[in-house]
Amino acid sequence: MPRVFLASRNVKKLEEMRRILSDHLPAVEVLGLDDVAEYDEPVEDQPTFEGNALLKARAGLAATGLPSVADDSGLCVDALNGMPGVLSARWSGRPKSDERNNTLLLDQLHDVPDERRGAHFACAIAFCAPARDGGEPAELLVEGRMDGRVIRETRGTGGFGYDVLFCAEEHPDLTTAELDAVDKDAISHRGRALRRIAPRIATHLTG
Ligand code: IMP
Repeated sequence: MPRVFLASRNVKKLEEMRRILSDHLPAVEVLGLDDVAEYDEPVEDQPTFEGNALLKARAGLAATGLPSVADDSGLCVDALNGMPGVLSARWSGRPKSDERNNTLLLDQLHDVPDERRGAHFACAIAFCAPARDGGEPAELLVEGRMDGRVIRETRGTGGFGYDVLFCAEEHPDLTTAELDAVDKDAISHRGRALRRIAPRIATHLTG
């Protein structure tokens, strides 16, 4: 059975990726960081989601020799000129804390009226696979996006990160932390990107 390595340390993100990919790559064994020997993960120092996703997938391939998938994602808030963006995970500094990030974001948007609280989640998914016949390694890159707005108080217990503060256009009265997993996957930036890339990964692995 072909194998794919998911290069992510974020347990919740990994859970989502496994769930979405297993539906679309049923005949592929999906491995996580716990299934491979430890390696030095790269510093995410690129200015774009695409750059960081590629960095992580390339490092996964280099360390394991396995076809590797990596996600880089974040929340882009209109009133903050697209920030926190690639800095989403560490917006309130280190150590990373979802709770502190959410408190900081609420403070920053305190005076922003409802009509200017638009935001979107963005996700880049990179796939890097070993070179065949002495050629270059195969690389695929896709993006996904979920539009919505940031509300004024945290709500819900599902998901992770900024989900407690974000209502998607498709479900304007529920935060993405109040949606069940299937409903979030159907509209999420990660779900959209993974469904776009899954058939291409399948073709690569079986072709
Ligand atoms: P990364 O591990 O550098 O890609 O960081 C992604 C960060 O963006 C996470 O730590 C969250 O703060 C945020 N994020 C990405 N996707 C989601 C999501 O689906 N829900 C809520 N927050 C997310």
